[in-house]
Formats: sequence, structure tokens, C-alpha cells
Amino acid sequence: MIPRSFGYHDPATLDEALTLLGEYGEDGKLMAGGQSLLPMMKFRLASPAHIVDLCRIPGVDTIEESNGEIRIGALATHRSLEDSQLLKSRCPILAKAASSIGDAQVRNLGTIGGAIAHADPAANYSPVLVALGARFVVRSAQGERVVAAADFYKDTFVTALRPSEMVTEIRVLAFGREVGWEHAKLSRRASDFALVGVAVLLRADAADVCTQADVVLGAVAPVPVRMQGVEVALVGKPLTSAAAAQAASVTKLGDKTPSDVHADAAYRAEVAPVCVRRALEAAINRMTARNK
Ligand SMILES: Cc1cc2nc3c(=O)[nH]c(=O)nc-3n(C[C@H](O)[C@H](O)[C@H](O)COP(=O)(O)OP(=O)(O)OC[C@H]3O[C@@H](n4cnc5c(N)ncnc54)[C@H](O)[C@@H]3O)c2cc1C
Repeated sequence: MIPRSFGYHDPATLDEALTLLGEYGEDGKLMAGGQSLLPMMKFRLASPAHIVDLCRIPGVDTIEESNGEIRIGALATHRSLEDSQLLKSRCPILAKAASSIGDAQVRNLGTIGGAIAHADPAANYSPVLVALGARFVVRSAQGERVVAAADFYKDTFVTALRPSEMVTEIRVLAFGREVGWEHAKLSRRASDFALVGVAVLLRADAADVCTQADVVLGAVAPVPVRMQGVEVALVGKPLTSAAAAQAASVTKLGDKTPSDVHADAAYRAEVAPVCVRRALEAAINRMTARNK
């Protein structure tokens, strides 16, 4: 299908973009990589009267570390996250999550800010960002606020963003080899969205007894879901395969688990514990490898 006609604006600065967005309100839409917006417009699921294209705005695509915090510009592409040496050494779970988004064309154009704002429940980043305790810097012409990832996702394609606001930066704490981690997605084909997505971060003491576990699932509810039962089952236990299997068996999906053409809710409920167990094992293997 062909989108409805719309006004096109390509501001040269962030301030100009925010002013336009403030002016058009509900009638305006930002466009970053266009990888989700344009298909939505072609299906007429979105019909903005004005597009504010962010492609000419400089300086909003950097990935930098300052005082143990990594700051990622919202216009950083999935490819730049995947290839970032800083992320590979200081937040490798994000680089891995970026590397399995769609195909190379999608990763070359799609941005982390666009993915966050689009809030597809099956997206790669959302469980990872909730597990990391990420914070999103959100700006409008009126000012700036910071929203925790856990408070940002409200429903399928619905976020805490107001129509006049743009995500400008993603902040996460850097970590090193002391953390065991994994992001994995179960999908029919490599480039597909997740049927189940899993993000795991594990911390342990010198005897490999778990001191903190963050286990968050994507694609099993309208928003990322923290598996508190699994986390509680891990903390205080030596991190072994047996502990991973026991904790994963506690995985429980809620009554909002989606059924769609790709998989029904019963299938997701069946495979989720397996995905969690495999992700925990991968995280434990990374953690124990640090001592070798
Ligand atoms: C074939 C295909 C396969 C895909 N597979 C996957 C996958 O496996 N996993 C996955 O996670 N994703 C997947 N995606 C989605 C991909 O990650 C998109 O890049 C992403 O969802 C949107 O990013 P974008 O920069 O293209 O945003 P756009 O499409 O430009 O915008 C998306 C939405 O976000 C808004 N927006 C954009 N930037 C901002 C901002 N900075 N602040 C506020 N609002 C903003 C727009 O107004 C729009 O509503 C796939 C997409 C395609 C086309």
C-alpha cells in the first residue's frame, strides 16, 4: 500500500527538530531509520500529517563512557552498537542484542532510539535495557527528563513518551568480566523477531555464589517482564548448571502472553523455561571463564 500524503521536514539541529515536534504534536512523527515507521505508514497503521526526519542532525549517534556510565546517542544505529569496541568490552550484552536485529540492511539504518520508541514487545533491546537498569534521556522544546527503562514501556507500541518528546540518549552502567551475561532470542528464522527473548545478568562472590540476578523476558507480554521467581531462586546459590535448571523451572508467563501467527501462548509458555535455562547456562559459563 502507499502511505497517505504528508509534510516532510529535515531539520539540521536537535533544537529545530524539537520545535517542529512541539508544533505538530499528535500530527507529527519523528523518523530515525524509518525501519518501523515506514512499514507502519505503508500499512496505514500510522498516518502522520508531518514527518520530522532526524537524518541530518549531527552528534546524537555517539557511544561514549564517562565515570563508569555508557551514554549512547539515540541515533546510533544497530550496526554501530554491534561493532562498538566500547560496548564489546564494557556492555557486551547490548552489542550482542544489536547483532541479531533483523538483517544487515535493517541494522545499517535502524536506530536504538527508534527501537525504544517503537516499543515492539518482541524487540531485542527492551528486555536487555530493563535488565541493565537503563535510563532514557527524553527531551522536548520545554526541557529534559530521565525515565527508567522499567517505567518507560507501558503497553504494546505504547511508552511514557509524550507527543512532543524525543529520546535523545540511553544510559547504562558499564560492567566487566565480573558479570555473567546473555541475550538470546528464539525465532523461526535468524532475522525474525523473537518468539521469546531473554536477557540475563548474573553477579557472584569469589566462591561463585550468586549475589544478584537480573532475568527479563521479551515477546511474552506487551512489555518486558522480570522473572522475579527465577531471580530469587538463584540468589544465594552456587552458580552451577543444576542451579540454572532449577531456577529456570520456576519461569512462569502471565495471562497476557500473546498468541499470534508465529506462535500461540501455550507454545511460548512451553519454550520459555528452556530459553531461560540456556541463557542462564551461557551466563554462568561466561562468568566461570573469567577465572581461567
Ligand atoms: C525486516 C525487519 C526486521 C526486523 N527485525 C527486528 C528484530 O529482530 N528485532 C528488533 O528488535 N527489531 C527488529 N526490527 C525493527 C528495527 O529494530 C527498527 O530499526 C526499529 O524498531 C525502529 O528503529 P528506526 O530507527 O528505524 O525507527 P523509525 O522507524 O524511524 O521510528 C519508529 C518509531 O519511533 C519513533 N522515533 C524514532 N526515533 C525516535 C526518538 N529518538 N525519540 C522518540 N521517538 C522516536 C518514530 O516516530 C516512530 O514512531 C526489524 C525491522 C524490519 C524492517
